[in-house]
Amino acid sequence: MSCSIVYDKVSYTYPDGTQALRELSFTLDHGEHVALLGPNGAGKSTIMLLSNGVLLPSSGSVTVGTVTLAKDTLVPIRQRVGLLFQDPDDQMFMTTVRDDVAFGPLNQGLAAAEVEQRVWQALQDVGLDEQADKAPQELSFGQRKRAALATILAMEPDFLILDEPSSNLDPRGRRRMMELVRKLQHTVLIATHDLDMAWELLPRSIIIDAGQVIAIGPTQELLCDEALLEAHGLEPPAAVRYGAVGRRTDR
Ligand code: ADP
Ligand code: MG
Repeated sequence: MSCSIVYDKVSYTYPDGTQALRELSFTLDHGEHVALLGPNGAGKSTIMLLSNGVLLPSSGSVTVGTVTLAKDTLVPIRQRVGLLFQDPDDQMFMTTVRDDVAFGPLNQGLAAAEVEQRVWQALQDVGLDEQADKAPQELSFGQRKRAALATILAMEPDFLILDEPSSNLDPRGRRRMMELVRKLQHTVLIATHDLDMAWELLPRSIIIDAGQVIAIGPTQELLCDEALLEAHGLEPPAAVRYGAVGRRTDR
């Protein structure tokens, strides 16, 4: 089974005429953890929404394994691609955390015992097994982010597409999220402004701006290129700013 996601010349225009993506191409290979970087409005969230068919390309194609995203392939695509929204409150709508995490597996038609096992495992994985019976709104923001991730993990997707998983978290919440990301065995694409997280956890990066791919390469190489970062509204991570590694200014 082919386990890559291929964006091939994907363009997307919102109904109001905003052209968010312009012939953008990249591949996510099996098992890799990749950062999607770029300034606000670059098109990161739009790329993520196209990964499992919340949006469909205006032109070009998104292919998951051997299946090309289209209206009639949403079911198999969503079995394989789990999308974490930037705002956990867009992901949770049941009265308890347990019910939210069970929702996906139940929808997949799994037997009750299997659903229960998946829920327990996913909540265990994100460190929320003791909060299962709470209402989502009783959790802290960081806990809600982890609970939202559990709703996806419970469906056992091959690909995890995470939109700003560390944003708006306090240092402890951010650390916990990073530890979680580090352990994920899935193929992972993470849109983030947290270049320190990208530096530490995500070996390859895609930098986009104005809906186009600007650079793809090893994260630590790209993030040492200060001219590249500055041209696209990004700041070097702490490891570069504080001189832990050599600066690159020759570009
Ligand atoms: P990012 O996640 O990198 O900040 P987005 O993908 O959210 O970027 O946005 C890309 C472009 O699409 C921006 O110009 C943004 O204003 C526009 N956009 C995003 N969502 C919508 C929408 N629902 N309707 C119209 N334009 C949108
Ligand atoms: Mg966004």
